[in-house]
Amino acid sequence: ATPSAVDVGIVGADVRIPLVTGEQVEYANFDYAASAPCLGAVRRRLEEALPYYASVHRGAGYHSQVSTDAYEAARRSVARFVGARGNDAVLFVRSTTDALNLLARSVPDGCTVVVFAGEHHAALLPWQHRGARAGRVVRLPLPAGPEDAVAAARAALLDAPEGPRLLCVTAASNVTGEIWPVDELTAVAHSAGARIVVDAAQLVPHQAFSLSRSGVDYVAFSGHKLYAPFGAGVLAGRTDWLRAAVPYLAGGGATASVTEDDVRWNDLPARHEAGSPNVLGAVGLAAACDTLRAAGQELLHAEEQALLDRLRAGLAAIPGVHDLSLWDAGGPRVGIVSFVVDGIAADLLAAALSAEYGIGVRDGLFCAHLLTRELLPPGHAQAVRASLGLGTTAAHVDRLVAAVAELAERGPRWDYELEDGRIAP
Ligand code: PMP
Repeated sequence: ATPSAVDVGIVGADVRIPLVTGEQVEYANFDYAASAPCLGAVRRRLEEALPYYASVHRGAGYHSQVSTDAYEAARRSVARFVGARGNDAVLFVRSTTDALNLLARSVPDGCTVVVFAGEHHAALLPWQHRGARAGRVVRLPLPAGPEDAVAAARAALLDAPEGPRLLCVTAASNVTGEIWPVDELTAVAHSAGARIVVDAAQLVPHQAFSLSRSGVDYVAFSGHKLYAPFGAGVLAGRTDWLRAAVPYLAGGGATASVTEDDVRWNDLPARHEAGSPNVLGAVGLAAACDTLRAAGQELLHAEEQALLDRLRAGLAAIPGVHDLSLWDAGGPRVGIVSFVVDGIAADLLAAALSAEYGIGVRDGLFCAHLLTRELLPPGHAQAVRASLGLGTTAAHVDRLVAAVAELAERGPRWDYELEDGRIAP
């Protein structure tokens, strides 16, 4: 049952898929952390926008005016969703990866960036990548607990040379689902005179987040993990660094005036949205933001926690299953569990769950190689990740637990081969 009067139904919830035996079953999607299915409300908003499909900000025609209004209304929806302060910028970008690369090219020259080794590569790597302006990147080892994370961040920021400093942290791990102590990290960053950027790609689909309440300086997230289309993401936060930075995408829309020998860049947000913007991506993302807010993210979170507890308890009861945790098993988490099963390679397990049971999970190192390798028990090279969200039911969870139990007991007795990660009968 939906926990609120708002329709949070998802598109494709009743899709049936073929098993390797040819039997048709309802697809059980446990891959929300990679990309979440689309909300019905998002599809409806996109259908309303499609007849007015037009480029924004440039055209004088009616469709262009409607599309421009929809695009700017989407920006206001996102601002409300992230609790933006009055003067925060809300920039539409392609994804979390894009947002963090944009920020890496916008920090003041010589900025010290402090980041934990356990980050998703999108948050770990941009600071040292081509064109990044950080003067120094301090990579902190995986902390033994949330308090250690706060203490290590404080020490590193206080130890940094004079000048601008930025702490980059994940709000919720895409590997373990563990929620990081963002409020405490924000407090130590600010008391050290630093700023903080939060990778909220895995948090905002599951839990309310507010820039103004938390004091966080910048937040980044992706539409496709938030029940909205691919290709649209958000960077929101303080304007001064972004306003001073030369756009990392140069082109139309970002420019106020171009002469033979001079370019004057636009002010925010256009400055960092060069090219024809992804109007439908922004509109869909905003529809998801509006729907989640209206439904009450606390209610959705509570319902999801019950399913997560059921999943974790079910997996913990299966002999040979180990779940991956950085910290104490009882800490706060979003709906993500990564695990291994003794004696079965993760890719085979994931492929068997799909082909034999119609269950979609992900296997691998989840673009967080340093963290996942550190957490894997000996003898395992990769893990399986099950992640859930709106549309997941207790029946789905029970199906996954029963399937893993059956495969764990049966062991590696496979009468099929893997081809490109799929089972060939
Ligand atoms: N950060 C985290 C924590 C993620 O889980 C992901 C996606 N796996 C990203 C960043 C990158 O998101 P995107 O692929 O949409 O850029």
